[in-house]
Amino acid sequence: MPSHLATLLLVDDNAMNRDALSRRLERTGYHVLVAESGEEALALAATHHIDLVLLDVMMPGMSGTETLTRLRQNRVLSDLPVIMVTAKDASGDMVEALDLGANDYVTKPVDYAVALARIRTQLTARRSDPLTGLPNRVLFMDRLTAVLQRPATTPDSGFAVFFIDVDRFKVVNDSLGHLAGDQLLVELSHRFQRSLRATDTVARISDCTLARMGGDEFTVLIDGVTAVDHACLVAERLLAVAGEPIALAGRDVTVTLSIGIVMSDPRYARADDMLRDADTAMYCAKASGKARVEVFDLSMLEAAMARLQIETDLRKAVVNGELALHYQPIVAMRERRLSGFEALLRWHHPERGMVSPDQFIGIAEETGLIVEIGGWALAEACRQMRAWDAEFPEHRDLVMNVNLSARQCLEPQLLGDVTRVLSETGLPAHRLKLEITESVMLAESDLVEKTLHALHGMGVQLGLDDFGMGYSALSYLRRFPFRTIKIDRSFVSDIDNAEKVEIVRAIAALAAGLSMNVTAEGIETEEQVARLRQLDCELGQGFLFHRPLTSDKAREVLRADSIDAAAARSVA
Ligand code: C2E
Ligand code: MG
Ligand code: MG
Repeated sequence: MPSHLATLLLVDDNAMNRDALSRRLERTGYHVLVAESGEEALALAATHHIDLVLLDVMMPGMSGTETLTRLRQNRVLSDLPVIMVTAKDASGDMVEALDLGANDYVTKPVDYAVALARIRTQLTARRSDPLTGLPNRVLFMDRLTAVLQRPATTPDSGFAVFFIDVDRFKVVNDSLGHLAGDQLLVELSHRFQRSLRATDTVARISDCTLARMGGDEFTVLIDGVTAVDHACLVAERLLAVAGEPIALAGRDVTVTLSIGIVMSDPRYARADDMLRDADTAMYCAKASGKARVEVFDLSMLEAAMARLQIETDLRKAVVNGELALHYQPIVAMRERRLSGFEALLRWHHPERGMVSPDQFIGIAEETGLIVEIGGWALAEACRQMRAWDAEFPEHRDLVMNVNLSARQCLEPQLLGDVTRVLSETGLPAHRLKLEITESVMLAESDLVEKTLHALHGMGVQLGLDDFGMGYSALSYLRRFPFRTIKIDRSFVSDIDNAEKVEIVRAIAALAAGLSMNVTAEGIETEEQVARLRQLDCELGQGFLFHRPLTSDKAREVLRADSIDAAAARSVA
């Protein structure tokens, strides 16, 4: 271990003791700060980075034990390793010091070899991860800093940093227990070590540090790689070894990894910056489907900054009332009669103008903001429907469709929210249809199943949105109480394609068999309407009928429809 990087604080009121010990420690390679008193020691510890304190017990003024107590009470310094220096026959002092939280002690006159061994033990303990025994974040950052400070003279002085995250680790932890989660991490650390040793020769790595950052995150510093391809090769091997089944809690579990890579570059001066970029690349690997390796490039940073900006702005948007709902009419295609609306979120950003849901719903889901936003959308859509009810009594059978995200379905308060909104607005439950995408069912399906059945029990309609995008097993259709299947736009736009027609036909037949109805979304042409009607698709929505409309425009549609209906009645 490169102990030369560690900084020791030596506290002793006796100048001779202090000088002798500090000189030897410095010769061994430590960086040493000295203090003459407890007060001075506390001041230094508060203003300098220190890895370990050697603390004399007997000092005039603030004693060693008093100093120790103060250190332990300080939130930032409370886990700083402290070795007490006591007189040989003062066993009471030692016991007291250990009780107060000293990590170890040495006796005077100090035996240098003993002191050194104890210092090393303490530093190692502080710099390794207790679960896996791997270097921890502190040590990893020290090594990375050392490599970054090295003059880049030779052609192969390049290096790479990996940021590794175990995909869906939380699922393992939650379903098999924390013990199994720990076992998984230990097993992975062994596999990584073996794989890295074996790849040494392939990629001509000169040195390599594998560390655990905490949680399910690991990092690797690979020294001696200049070619991105070599770094990727090493990372791919890590993916491969992680992918082999692991026996956990009596079953075989397989996991995947997302790995971000950043290559050394003169623009990096600080370890933090390099690690941040590796983390960003890892995040991209996750976002583009997990189980993969991504190499950092600057566009990722820009995208990450933009995301962060959206996140910050979105928080304000909720408070400042920048969100609105637009309403897209849903049409019963046989009679061309209005059957309801889908409420779609719109964000009027003060600088960017209109931001589309595709650009912010995902971020809102990740940050949890969707719970608040979705709750607002639900209440607003129901309120709007009731306002129209009052104005257009002849339309009191229209259904309001509201989109629900996976995250909302996992919130325990959802049922209460829906109940409250229905009772506050007076909208009958069957006139609310909650649209849920297939991906919802993938997440913790037991909980979701309970929630959906409870909503169904209240009389709320449920629709399966974007059907056919490929996530769902058909068994979901039996297991969950859906009233409606919404065929995804991609099938409708491609309905001239013979294969797609067959799929839509099969979905329609399946829906009929399960007493569900079918809505087609994204209808843009009359040909599509004709085709869909042949396939018994009842409801449709799309630009052909109407685009999503502001509430004022939607109101005009309602009024016109009322006039049409009245005209139809008077003819009949
Ligand atoms: P979605 O629920 O599948 O909504 C249908 C999307 O298709 C809407 O996009 C709509 O404007 C668009 N669309 C409708 N007809 C046509 C057409 O004929 N052609 C084309 N090309 N597109 C059409 P939008 O409004 O951009 O919403 C995108 C997605 O954002 C929605 O997909 C939904 O998943 C999500 N979203 C919107 N509002 C909410 C909300 O309040 N809560 C949640 N959780 N998600 C929402
Ligand atoms: Mg929808
Ligand atoms: Mg959809």
